[in-house]
Amino acid sequence: MTGTDQLTTGGCQCGAVRYAFTGKTINPSLCHCRMCQKAFGSYFAPLGGVKNENLTWTRGKPAIFQSSPVAERGFCAACGTPLTFRYIADSDTNIALGSLDHPQNEIPVNAYGTESEMPWFDWLATLPAHATETSTAPDRLAAITSFQHPDHDTDR
Ligand SMILES: [Zn+2]
Ligand SMILES: [Zn+2]
Repeated sequence: MTGTDQLTTGGCQCGAVRYAFTGKTINPSLCHCRMCQKAFGSYFAPLGGVKNENLTWTRGKPAIFQSSPVAERGFCAACGTPLTFRYIADSDTNIALGSLDHPQNEIPVNAYGTESEMPWFDWLATLPAHATETSTAPDRLAAITSFQHPDHDTDR
């Protein structure tokens, strides 16, 4: 397999919905618009396009909320993870990049909806940093067992 033929996989937090496509996303971007903020429960949405014919739902399917006459958003009905945004008339689907198994491989190249960008967005990279091991009490750390689906496909 060469770079562009590589299978890219991802899915929701509980693993009920999984997907795959070849290559990388088209125009990986951040959208700061108010609808994406709400849909993701976040300050912005990281999204990248995949041609519909290149996108396969390998386990389950997302539930759909139509957020406007022209657009719909997919999410896992079991755990709530936002998974997609797409314009209904278009031939591609935008994948929520944080749901990829290896989200670090997609580097955002555009920012949209910047009229709603948080006024302190540029300040985020300067926040005091704390790794989980140093900011969580040892007894709590020891008690954490992740129920999150691992970052790779599984048999069930
Ligand atoms: Zn789920
Ligand atoms: Zn948006």
